Amino acid sequence: MVPMNPISAKFYSNVSSIPPLQFLNATQNAWETFSKLAGCHIGENINGLSKLKQYFRRFGYITGTNNCTDDFDDVLQSAINTYQKNFNLKVTGKLDSSTLRQIVKPRCGNPDMIDGVSEMNGGKKLRATERYSFFPGKPRWPKRKRDLTYAYVPQNNLTDEVKRVFARAFTRWAEVTPLNFTRSESLLGADIVIGFFSGEHGDGEPFDGAMGTLAHASSPPTGMLHLDGDEDWLISDGEISRRVLPVTSVVDLESVAVHEIGHLLGLGHSSVEDAIMFPAISGGDRKVELAKDDIEGIQHLYGGNPNGDGGVSKPSRENESTGGAGDSVRRWSGLVFILSSIATCLWLICV
Ligand SMILES: [Zn+2]
Ligand SMILES: [Zn+2]
Repeated sequence: MVPMNPISAKFYSNVSSIPPLQFLNATQNAWETFSKLAGCHIGENINGLSKLKQYFRRFGYITGTNNCTDDFDDVLQSAINTYQKNFNLKVTGKLDSSTLRQIVKPRCGNPDMIDGVSEMNGGKKLRATERYSFFPGKPRWPKRKRDLTYAYVPQNNLTDEVKRVFARAFTRWAEVTPLNFTRSESLLGADIVIGFFSGEHGDGEPFDGAMGTLAHASSPPTGMLHLDGDEDWLISDGEISRRVLPVTSVVDLESVAVHEIGHLLGLGHSSVEDAIMFPAISGGDRKVELAKDDIEGIQHLYGGNPNGDGGVSKPSRENESTGGAGDSVRRWSGLVFILSSIATCLWLICV
């Protein structure tokens, strides 16, 4: 745990160092009040719907600045419909429980729709197979820029352990593209700048305290990666795999870093839940391996890694290591079985 100034972020280097209180705090989410809107439908006027409209406006589902009333109107219903399509939910246009469960999950601050256009499921033809998306105009780093540098905002005083999390996250994208990422000590001239910030921090996209939005990042060639300085982060280096943590208000930093780097390189959000570019992540979840959808999306922009196999058919390292561990466990249990058989025989002979 590292005291941070001026941000309040705490960094836990393993699951066992997370205080029990953090597990209890898991429901203290910036959007938890939306749960009260369950069952609302068109034609009703319910206190709190205006806040939900602001939520949908923030992520691009409602355009324009008026209409911030508590009326459940056509505009809200159409926003819910598109949201449900994007998140693979049953399209009901209502605030049913599965929709609200998704809405309150912590997520990336980047919008799912830009200028009213959804590049996720909601804007795709029914038979489209790819789910990855890009920013409007498909911006990417220019061809001459294959070696990108990144630097940390010095005021954060990040430890080497935290910096290693980002290095690992960059490597995951470098493995499947011709891009290389090198850390720069100086902000000056760095292509990508990484910083933790609390609340308003000068780009018109204020962070919202614990949970809610976790981070946001710009499209190329603006390399801005901001993380919410009020979150608590797990900086484990792979000791945990997906879904082994109980629900907690501590967020896996590498999972969020890999996602935001995807934006920095030009990817938008994907409707594939297993993809890194899916917009939301549950507290306590860890998702760091690029999915087929992520790899296809990034290789559409940059091509594959000339020194690698392109990555698409590559088994994940976590699977490999699990397989390896499984094999050695099997070998050991075989050996133990043989030894115990010999011991049993000796005991039988002696007796
Ligand atoms: Zn995102
Ligand atoms: Zn920001």
